[in-house]
Amino acid sequence: MIITLDGPAGSGKSSTARALAKKLGGVYLDTGAMYRAVTLLALERGVNPDDAGKLDAIAAAIVIDFKEAEGGQMVFIDGRDVTAAIRAPEVDASVSAVSAHPGVRKKMVALQRGIAQKHKTVIVEGRDTGSVVFPNAEHKFFLKASSSERGKRRALQMGQAAENVQGVVKQIIDRDSKDSSRLISPLVVPAGAVEIDNSHLSLDETLDKIIQFLA
Ligand code: C5P
Repeated sequence: MIITLDGPAGSGKSSTARALAKKLGGVYLDTGAMYRAVTLLALERGVNPDDAGKLDAIAAAIVIDFKEAEGGQMVFIDGRDVTAAIRAPEVDASVSAVSAHPGVRKKMVALQRGIAQKHKTVIVEGRDTGSVVFPNAEHKFFLKASSSERGKRRALQMGQAAENVQGVVKQIIDRDSKDSSRLISPLVVPAGAVEIDNSHLSLDETLDKIIQFLA
């Protein structure tokens, strides 16, 4: 069974998908981490986020692994722990440009489908997982929340002080607008997805709502 959770930055997809995977005994697949991993390698190698050829080559060769750990999911590139590095502000700033390249998306989508095939229950989160990657998923959800609430959550995640929330809100609005306006696989509410606004819901309440639809 495949369950997709899509939505903008800070909509609670990661926490919800991880908790759902735990509850259902399934595998959690963070597709955003994969685009972040490609972006990190590009930045480390001095590749411009507009250089389609070099980005395609990075995406074709990259080996990404995930490992469940106490504090969350760990991410590795060629065996190197990049869990923290892929969340750096520099990656935040370039990931939308890198993930807009068709060649990069093609490679990541193939990897995502390959991972899903190996497991019985997969909870996958991202921007296009219900619309493009798994259009026939058994259950699709689209999480959303007000931009101020999403900014607060992101600031908290990033360990930013309350006075920086406005700046974080601006960054995520900018990233949402790039992710929603790109030509290929833009952030959309997938056909058949259940929309959940969790601006005023806790993680458990969001989870309860989702579980109602799985019955
Ligand atoms: O989910 P997260 O915020 O980590 O995603 C980082 C970025 O990766 C998004 O802003 C988007 O540009 C890209 N992404 C994507 N398609 C996905 C998941 C993420 O383009 N399925």
